[in-house]
Amino acid sequence: MTTETTETADIAGTSGIETVDVVIVGAGPTGLTAAYLCAQLGLSAIVLERRDGPQRSPAAHVVNARTFEIWRQAGVDMVSVLAAAQSPDEAGRAQWLTKLGGEVIGSLPFEHQGDDMLAITPTPLRNLSQHRLEPLLLAGLDSVRYQHRWVGAQQHDDHVVVEVESPEGSYSVRTSYLLAADGAGSRVRNWLGIEPIGPGSIQTFVMVHFAADLTELTSPNLGVLHFIVDPTSGGTFVCHGLRTDWVYMCPFDPETDPVESFDEERARSIVLAAMDHEVPFEILGISSWNMSAQIAERYRDGRVFLIGDAAHRFPPTGGLGLNTGVADVHNLLWKIAAVESGRAPESILETYEAERRPVAQFNSDQSLINAFKLIEIPIAFGVTEDVDASVAAMHETLADPDRRAGVEAAIANQAIHFDLLGLQLGHSYSGDLVMDDGSEALVLEEPARDYVPSSRPGARLPHGWLPDRRSTLDLIAPDVPTVLVAAGAEAPALDPSVPVKVVEVPVEVWSEAFAIDAATALLVRPDQHIAFRGPVAGVDGALRAMFATNADR
Ligand SMILES: Cc1cc2nc3c(=O)[nH]c(=O)nc-3n(C[C@H](O)[C@H](O)[C@H](O)COP(=O)(O)OP(=O)(O)OC[C@H]3O[C@@H](n4cnc5c(N)ncnc54)[C@H](O)[C@@H]3O)c2cc1C
Repeated sequence: MTTETTETADIAGTSGIETVDVVIVGAGPTGLTAAYLCAQLGLSAIVLERRDGPQRSPAAHVVNARTFEIWRQAGVDMVSVLAAAQSPDEAGRAQWLTKLGGEVIGSLPFEHQGDDMLAITPTPLRNLSQHRLEPLLLAGLDSVRYQHRWVGAQQHDDHVVVEVESPEGSYSVRTSYLLAADGAGSRVRNWLGIEPIGPGSIQTFVMVHFAADLTELTSPNLGVLHFIVDPTSGGTFVCHGLRTDWVYMCPFDPETDPVESFDEERARSIVLAAMDHEVPFEILGISSWNMSAQIAERYRDGRVFLIGDAAHRFPPTGGLGLNTGVADVHNLLWKIAAVESGRAPESILETYEAERRPVAQFNSDQSLINAFKLIEIPIAFGVTEDVDASVAAMHETLADPDRRAGVEAAIANQAIHFDLLGLQLGHSYSGDLVMDDGSEALVLEEPARDYVPSSRPGARLPHGWLPDRRSTLDLIAPDVPTVLVAAGAEAPALDPSVPVKVVEVPVEVWSEAFAIDAATALLVRPDQHIAFRGPVAGVDGALRAMFATNADR
């Protein structure tokens, strides 16, 4: 990846300044993924990050199957990334307990992490903490500039000039596209005057990060989430490493209880109050976060695109924020590369928001449902604002088989919160870059949960194992459309001037993974979503339609 300096003056007066194809603001998971994709697509890019290094405090931990599939295609070192994930044995359940190490009241599987998932994805969901992940993503990049802060920009018809402040001084960069991956409080979004729509602060949480080996308190009831039902605590332990580090978080009211009052002594007593008995731990950090459910009113302004949390922010109850950001850039960057190389009209960039906003809305809605549904459990316990009365109600409930059964039912009712395969793999696109084949979409009982592999246009290409143990997903070119045909089928007649990859798929894999006959071909976009399904003879027309200008449609 190279950056260059323009030598000749231009009409905007930007001669002599550094010039790149893409400037990415923010080196969170979304910005770092964007940098990988730019490198792969031959787009020169720089990532500006105001912090002095990768994030140190934990946040996301659920990295879903689709995100791993995207990183796998983008050239991320999957060996080191997967090695940093928690084992499903240790992080495979959500538990409800009186206190950590106390009585277990209920338990649910935490998503599908078993080997059975390998039938539908090469990379099942894992728990991988964001503060461990970011340094691993960074290791494969040379485009990230820490302590370089985006401070402003001017947008022109054919470029953007970005203003940067760094310890070495201020400078400008000229770019074709500015990607705002600067998080939920996005200054780039504010500069554009784009409003986030939806509640900005549903609840505020204090988060205590501490180093500890909690094997003794959690065995044999291991899990990634431990919900503490005792009303004197009412928080959640998040396992970021059974023997290394944990988070305890609980709600507080910043109006009456300022976050600054959570000093180390208070944080220690909060954590201790949620444990059945004391074990040694060392506090690593104390922070707070707001639960919000917001989606930007638009994702684009000219050459500036909002991606990741800058475009949308969900409650973490669903583990979807990071994952949605990664899929955003996967959707956007091949389109930018196609426009920049002259292979596609500028109008395909409009499909970014059209395709990704419904996904953000769906993920936001489900995350909110999950967050509010959790309240059913304290209600089943008879918890009120009166803490002493609530503690008494908890003990009475646990001693009464009927009332206890009500709590167990309320816990069982949370199952979908931790079973969101449909949201991982089932999102399907429609619109200008997807050629409807007239087939009916499958009606699923619970679309957030249920995933049925489908080769219907718009869907993610179903995964199947090839004889050489590659995935069908590995056949898809990251930069140009891929035509998949069954081995031995008629070869498509294609316009040689349109770059495309053609691959034959073994017949057994073809029929099993895609459930279509050998006379049917698939045209797959670089983001592994199917653009066209139909007769081999129809592929050429589909390719032309995909990259047609709006006027030609
Ligand atoms: C408690 C908690 C648990 C969560 N759990 C999950 C989970 O399990 N799974 C999941 O998918 N998501 C989860 N999330 C959400 C996830 O953390 C976010 O969605 C994710 O971090 C968004 O990534 P991003 O790169 O878009 O933004 P961010 O991670 O916010 O990164 C933005 C970056 O931009 C930088 N920046 C900001 N302004 C500037 C500027 N002017 N110049 C330069 N740099 C700038 C910031 O310093 C930051 O590094 C959780 C969130 C929380 C709070």
